[in-house]
Amino acid sequence: MARVVVVGAGMGGLAAAARLAAAGHEVTVFERADTVGGKLGRHTEQTPAGAFTFDTGPSLLTLPQVFTDLFTATGAKLDEYVDLVPLDPIVRHVFADGTVLDSCADPQVFTARIGAALGAEAAADWQRLWQRAGRIWEASWRDILRRPVDSPLDVARLAWRLGDLAAIAPGRTLRGLGRGLLRDPRLRMLLDRYATYTGADPRRAPAALAAVPYAELAFGGWYPRGGLATLGDALLSRCLDLGVVVETGTAVAGIDAPGGRVRGVRLAGSAARVPADVVVANVDAATVHRELLPDPRRLARLADRSLAGFVLLLGVTGSSGLAHHNVFFPADYDAEFDAVFGDPGRGVPARPAPDPTVFVTVADDPLIRPEGHEAWFVLVNAARHGRSPGSVDWHRPGLADAYADRVLAVLAARGVEVRDRLLFRQVRTPAELAEETAAPGGSIYGTAGGLLRPANRTGTHGLFLVGGSTHPGGGLPMVTLSAQIVADRIGPA
Ligand SMILES: Cc1cc2nc3c(=O)[nH]c(=O)nc-3n(C[C@H](O)[C@H](O)[C@H](O)COP(=O)(O)OP(=O)(O)OC[C@H]3O[C@@H](n4cnc5c(N)ncnc54)[C@H](O)[C@@H]3O)c2cc1C
Repeated sequence: MARVVVVGAGMGGLAAAARLAAAGHEVTVFERADTVGGKLGRHTEQTPAGAFTFDTGPSLLTLPQVFTDLFTATGAKLDEYVDLVPLDPIVRHVFADGTVLDSCADPQVFTARIGAALGAEAAADWQRLWQRAGRIWEASWRDILRRPVDSPLDVARLAWRLGDLAAIAPGRTLRGLGRGLLRDPRLRMLLDRYATYTGADPRRAPAALAAVPYAELAFGGWYPRGGLATLGDALLSRCLDLGVVVETGTAVAGIDAPGGRVRGVRLAGSAARVPADVVVANVDAATVHRELLPDPRRLARLADRSLAGFVLLLGVTGSSGLAHHNVFFPADYDAEFDAVFGDPGRGVPARPAPDPTVFVTVADDPLIRPEGHEAWFVLVNAARHGRSPGSVDWHRPGLADAYADRVLAVLAARGVEVRDRLLFRQVRTPAELAEETAAPGGSIYGTAGGLLRPANRTGTHGLFLVGGSTHPGGGLPMVTLSAQIVADRIGPA
């Protein structure tokens, strides 16, 4: 039995803690915030009309089998903790010309919907993309997403062994894949959007990200009744049942690793060392190497940072008739990427996109809003918080409110006027996410899409990394898989 310290109680940290406790280890989790969940956050607003409960982070659950596996591996059943509801549509896409396309988990029905909305040619193109995406997904699932990838060489070896290089098309971008297979610009937009699900720019993201829509549309989009944060509650109670000690409001200030071997952690505001044989860090990989380890030269290998998000939580009176998830696209998608990512190399700074894609989630769930009201989660892709040319200083006085006004005006221009029905609005910028979850710059997913993320095993003996900034990447299913990879590496007690 090893004494394991997990630093951070995000989804990755909690999933690793539960697996390791089930494997017989003695596990303690230290979390700097007062609550667990990290980006899987929740906000409750009390009003005279009643309570509104918002997910402040994830709103769409994909790959439910990953969570079923997690609970099974810890000796429990997911459905005893969480009531998962399948969504149809998974996402309602509204294009600038007014065309509406509802995605769903039945490939034939979705193809028929594409045919009806965009024409037979588009439906045939989608089928070709779907075949291709399926091959990429199968290769990724089999050989990459559930396995350690310790070096770029591992990826190359795996790819060669797969014999699926033609499908994965290394060197090709997601945008390039869309251009090659899809003639309808709206369908290309839909594909491009999946790059942003990993925090990346589709013009730079690898074509292999076509696996993302495949995973979503083959296995469905799901909503846990009561909100996504109930998944964090469930995992916390699983950890506690397994004997994990969870200490919130306790930041780890350093990882002691004399001679390159983990010995324990130091807590902020305390001189004492908490001894440990194994440390699993759910902290951003770059922060671990730059701030928590004694040797700042041990930098993680570099991967692009994911974009951030600008969020509005809205208490709305009446009913809007929106789907659960709605995406309102702009006419010019590239203008949005140009703004959000900037081009620091050419001196073009990042900035809030004036005409962004707007994602609106409205769960039809009486558990999260008073009767006769709706709780809206509005998300817009945003540049990370910071002062460098690739970032935006979201603390700039007046910026957050002015941009919130802008986003609501954009929605109104796209046919969704909500301003006259607002009971309240709360604005959450990338700066707030950075402060609440210690995500550098408020990056949503840690590192952006691609395979060259920091490995889960580090050069320090006994130190492992879980979470969105490490392999296999961001998003709830991926960070949960990173916990599985780490727990497998550590092994049973
Ligand atoms: C707005 C938004 C929308 C999203 N939408 C989706 C979606 O629809 N679907 C989806 O699957 N994913 C989505 N994501 C991504 C998803 O939320 C993340 O990928 C995932 O929750 C990250 O989990 P993690 O394990 O990397 O840890 P994090 O959530 O980043 O948690 C890390 C934890 O470590 C703690 N910590 C940091 N430093 C220390 C320290 N020194 N000592 C102690 N504790 C420390 C932090 O406080 C935090 O609690 C979204 C994220 C955001 C922000």
